[in-house]
Amino acid sequence: MDLDSDQIALALPLPWQEQLWQRFNQRLEQGRLPHGVMLSGPSGIGVERLATAFSQRLLCNAEMSKYACGSCKGCKLLMAGTHPDLSILEPADVGKGILIDSVRNLTARLGKTAQQGGWKVALISPAEAMNESSCNALLKSLEEPQSKTLLILVSHRASLVPATIRSRCQIDHLSVPDLQVARQWLIEVAGEQQAVDQSLELAGGKPLLALEYMQSDSIEQRHMFEQLVDNIRLGDLSPMSAAQQVQKLNSDQMLDWFMHYLHRLVTGEMQNSLNPALFEFGDQLRKARGWALSGSNINPQLMWEGLFMDWLKVFRSPR
Ligand SMILES: [Zn+2]
Repeated sequence: MDLDSDQIALALPLPWQEQLWQRFNQRLEQGRLPHGVMLSGPSGIGVERLATAFSQRLLCNAEMSKYACGSCKGCKLLMAGTHPDLSILEPADVGKGILIDSVRNLTARLGKTAQQGGWKVALISPAEAMNESSCNALLKSLEEPQSKTLLILVSHRASLVPATIRSRCQIDHLSVPDLQVARQWLIEVAGEQQAVDQSLELAGGKPLLALEYMQSDSIEQRHMFEQLVDNIRLGDLSPMSAAQQVQKLNSDQMLDWFMHYLHRLVTGEMQNSLNPALFEFGDQLRKARGWALSGSNINPQLMWEGLFMDWLKVFRSPR
């Protein structure tokens, strides 16, 4: 076993997950773990990380350790990414589904004896990526559980997971952490204080998303997007060419930024001369956001052209 290169670092729960972590350990120690656990919460706050940390804790052979110990055989297999009793089910691509065949493979593996003699753990993330038939294939494992077998389901939109699955899981909900806790963690991890507040605001208080923003060009991109929106408003840029500039970028994210921008405009400096057309435009943005989220096949160039043209009209229409 090559442990020096390509090792996977074991996951630790995040500071705001401490309470839940203790509860897990208690349930484990008291032999009160259910067969299915669903960890539900928005993406960007580390729900996956908690699920991973717990699956590793279960597969660690050290009895009294609070976290996976990192030195037993189980941990070494985990770090090498080859633990035979851990199954991870994820979509092959972001936004794609978890297919029934992979669920069937999983249930077949769970039906067998644990190769390392301990727990068998399956991590399904996100659970809403399973379609109806995938869910049905999983039900049997939840209905006729084997001993020392745990299914951990991560969900960012639990309402999209069928009730038949949810009702067979113990559901633990995670919320966006307290701002101060998130801030402190982010400063420690990012090693700098600059941009932390801005990133957290941009990420709606979700620390891992904020970190992602800090490590990418998002802040700069948002600034550019807002400039572009300003330029359309001032008549310095045509909606057509603006749409051309943004059509290849992430629509979801830009629609979010546009909503924030509008919100600032409405609550901020323009309060004295509120234009009712701004509210109507806000409705249109929400609608566009709905389309984008529903995964409908809209042409981004056309969508942005339409939005930008309406945006221009807001400032050209007679009050
Ligand atoms: Zn261990």
